[in-house]
Amino acid sequence: MVRMATRQQAASTWHDDDLCPKIVKILKVISKETISCKAYMSKPGEYEIHEGTSQFPLSLNSKICSCGAWQLSGIPCRHAIRAMLHAKIDPHKVVSTWYSVKTYKQAYSFGINPIPDKDQWPSFEDIPTIKPPTLKRGVGRPCRNRKREEGEDQKGKRAKTVKCTKYQSNAAKAAAKAAKEASKSSQATEINISQPASSNI
Ligand SMILES: [Zn+2]
Repeated sequence: MVRMATRQQAASTWHDDDLCPKIVKILKVISKETISCKAYMSKPGEYEIHEGTSQFPLSLNSKICSCGAWQLSGIPCRHAIRAMLHAKIDPHKVVSTWYSVKTYKQAYSFGINPIPDKDQWPSFEDIPTIKPPTLKRGVGRPCRNRKREEGEDQKGKRAKTVKCTKYQSNAAKAAAKAAKEASKSSQATEINISQPASSNI
């Protein structure tokens, strides 16, 4: 309530057609940053702003700068102000109406009803305290699984995947090859074991 009142009082001395003082300060800071920019007009209202090695297409007609700051904040960026200086347009006139004194006054025009201090509240000692209701346990075991939404995958089921037949055949080939090699090696070990036994005989 105090904030509403102080802002309302402060705004009462401002002119409706002006911008809020804070926004005027921000514009001053941004205007100083235009030193690093150079404006090149392609046609009336359309510019290309060069800043260092970067370049920004800018439209004063549609209030758009490719850096995005102007559209985002409603306050012209340094590129836009540089183009406005070239086009001899006052940047204060282009700032969004969100930052006008008229809008500010509208925002703080609604008063909040004043409330007394906590010590002045009426006492509630005579009123009985209301306890929360006792919880009743339902019939049967409580459900442990979460109720899933319609269309949601059930627990443990995986999403369907498309299997590649080529990959499968390659995998099958590889498995068969491995099995063949394993059987060969087992045969070889059997022979090795049987040879010393025959020499003894
Ligand atoms: Zn910009």
